[in-house]
Amino acid sequence: MIPVMKPWLGEEEADAAADAVRSGWVAQGPRVAEFETRFAERVAAPHAVAVSSCTTALHLCLHLLGIGPGDEVVVPSFSFIATANCAVYVGATPVFADVEPEDGNLSRRTVEAVLTDRTRAVIVVHQGGVPADVEPLQALCQERGIALVEDAACAAGSTYLEAPVGVGATLAAWSFHPRKLLTTGEGGMLTTTEPDLAARARRLREHGMSVSAAERHRSRQPVLESYLEVGFNYRMTDIQAGVGLVQLRKLDAMVERRRALAALYQEALAGIPGLRTVRDPERGESNYQSFWVELGPEFPMSRNELLGALADAGVSARAGIMAAHRQPAYAGHPHGDLSTTERLTDRTLILPLYHDLAVEDQDIVIGAVRAAAKSRAVS
Ligand SMILES: *Cc1c(COP(=O)(O)O)cnc(C)c1O
Repeated sequence: MIPVMKPWLGEEEADAAADAVRSGWVAQGPRVAEFETRFAERVAAPHAVAVSSCTTALHLCLHLLGIGPGDEVVVPSFSFIATANCAVYVGATPVFADVEPEDGNLSRRTVEAVLTDRTRAVIVVHQGGVPADVEPLQALCQERGIALVEDAACAAGSTYLEAPVGVGATLAAWSFHPRKLLTTGEGGMLTTTEPDLAARARRLREHGMSVSAAERHRSRQPVLESYLEVGFNYRMTDIQAGVGLVQLRKLDAMVERRRALAALYQEALAGIPGLRTVRDPERGESNYQSFWVELGPEFPMSRNELLGALADAGVSARAGIMAAHRQPAYAGHPHGDLSTTERLTDRTLILPLYHDLAVEDQDIVIGAVRAAAKSRAVS
């Protein structure tokens, strides 16, 4: 089977993990600090705070903003469920907004439709790596005095208005899960323009301690820490950060390779009636973390039938992005019109795209999609 995705890991990452183990320093330490510096440089963020996942980064973002019970947080339903869950973690109510049909992202239009006087924050997702149109959302949030958080889980290496995605974000959250481009096994990052938020995030990820374990270790004198507020254990390990440093050096190559493979798909699948491929919006460039296609009514098969046909051809594809409001976890949760979300989640699928995807294997995928498109007339 041709897998739908595969992380790009090699001997260098294995050595980096082994080096961290041999150093004797395996928990959050010098490698985490260096990974933060390098990541901040790469995404042009003034401050980066490494954490255990993007989910914990998102939780910290809402916690830092002081959002809690009685508050509403606007999120797309068309996202991995963690985007909505983090609002629940702080006792707030996630409010699902619909997305734009072109790119599957929130927009000023879809967010405005669900704002109330209880809205305290909006979490915009750069879904699958496609940059969302952040500027109009920033303007809207500023007008209304609400916070904007960027869920950039998928978007390391994507650009928006010729700058890295997340540039200028008060708060952005990133993922290093193996499903994304850059991986540390599990891991995440919080980036921010605000030094105060960064300092508090550093403390909150480490139990609210006044001095970090790394600082205490470096000191020649005994250091008595105090616990300034109730924090969490959201630390990244130095083993993970060692791997992350190697992965970060490869990010440009990863993006280049993915964009080349995506261009091959776009060319080869163009002109198939009833099939649309994900594309760069005018506002920026995707890292193509997920290469999705949408099937329209003219396509002779349903999405699930096409998934079956691809499996028969030895191709492991996936149903497209989920819709959180349809999951049992959100059963009965009120929401407004989510018709674009529902159409996209029902009619999209993700094709194999990963760094090591051989062009011959990609041809098998393309051949299988083309064969399915010709399989039978529209009934
Ligand atoms: C993957 C993902 C997350 C969760 O990331 P973890 O690092 O696995 O916690 C959150 N939001 C979006 C949009 C994602 O794709």
